[in-house]
Amino acid sequence: MSEIKGLTQQAVHKKGSLFVYSDELAWFDFGTDHPFKPERSAKTYELCNRYALMHQPWMKILKPESIEDNMIHLFHNSKYIDLLKDAEKGDIRLEMLEHGIGTSDNPILSGILEWSLKVTGGTVAAMNQLMQNNALVAFNPLGGFHHAKSDQAEGFCYVNDIAIAIKEAIRQKNDIKVVYIDIDAHHGNGVQEAFYDDPTVLVISIHETGKTLYPWVGFETEMGEGDGKGFTVNVPIEAGSDDEVFLYVFDNIVPPLFESFSPDVVVAELGADTMISDPLTHLKLTNNSYQNAIKKIVERSPRLLALGGGGYDLFRTARCWTLAWSIMNFIEPLDELAGLVGGMMFGPESEVGSLYDRSYASSGEIKDKAMSEAQRVMTYIQKEIFPIHGI
Ligand SMILES: [Zn+2]
Repeated sequence: MSEIKGLTQQAVHKKGSLFVYSDELAWFDFGTDHPFKPERSAKTYELCNRYALMHQPWMKILKPESIEDNMIHLFHNSKYIDLLKDAEKGDIRLEMLEHGIGTSDNPILSGILEWSLKVTGGTVAAMNQLMQNNALVAFNPLGGFHHAKSDQAEGFCYVNDIAIAIKEAIRQKNDIKVVYIDIDAHHGNGVQEAFYDDPTVLVISIHETGKTLYPWVGFETEMGEGDGKGFTVNVPIEAGSDDEVFLYVFDNIVPPLFESFSPDVVVAELGADTMISDPLTHLKLTNNSYQNAIKKIVERSPRLLALGGGGYDLFRTARCWTLAWSIMNFIEPLDELAGLVGGMMFGPESEVGSLYDRSYASSGEIKDKAMSEAQRVMTYIQKEIFPIHGI
């Protein structure tokens, strides 16, 4: 078994970290009724500033620029991209709907393709900087569009920045091994599709079961195909799962896979829609388990590209991502304005004044069912997938 070469404070402070951000992109509007609000990244940026987590000597802000036109074809097919271009020009056709363009989840918005290409450019540029050893960690809270398929817009995602960035990194340096870890409440179906038969990318997704949540798939039996068999690992958890259930599956499944696979770079989708107050999902996590998981990812990543993803309680999402950035940088948040301003940067009154959540535990039948399902899924993965990795 290979030795873990994880990030350390010393290494990150020496080699640097990147925060991908642009005010202009953060304030792009999906419409008042649409739950996806890129402004979460602006709130994250504000909170990071307030907590002395920005502008440290080893940090850089990376302003996203659009990817080159041909790079999109690393994952998406031409017909789909042409349809997106036409939709944006106002040339609306019925066949667009067959590709998810113009649905209530993925409306035709003026400037959406350009916006998506810039966000993707941020993710790709961050990955390039990591591969060139100009930084060891990068966070793009604007990115993480894990549902976009090669020919389909889905789940608020039009362009899959994750699949494109990983494919571009492999194109540049074809012997690298990548772990993709997705802790968003939704299954990362678009990224799974991109690498389903590829053993150079180990795709791990922990999410609310497809029995109760979009995209209705991501079951433990989906484990890759061909050479990629065993290199897709799905860990569905029940509605009502809390921190204990989440950490039970995370601790039993994620560290052994990281250690045996020994990635060169880790890409993490850090969606915060698993949180107890999220309006779109049914998980009951707090940012206590969220921080715990991110620490364990950081400790096992030689280089880390982190992405935002879901999160529909805007304030809580911003708090999660602020904590994630502090963990990646090995520094504690320090409230520079303590006592001087009110709680509105954090959200409604009950949560004022701290980045940290109170603990919460599910109970009764819900908890029992969540735990027994977690044990069943874990046993399945240990039996069917671990042996493929020599564990
Ligand atoms: Zn999600």
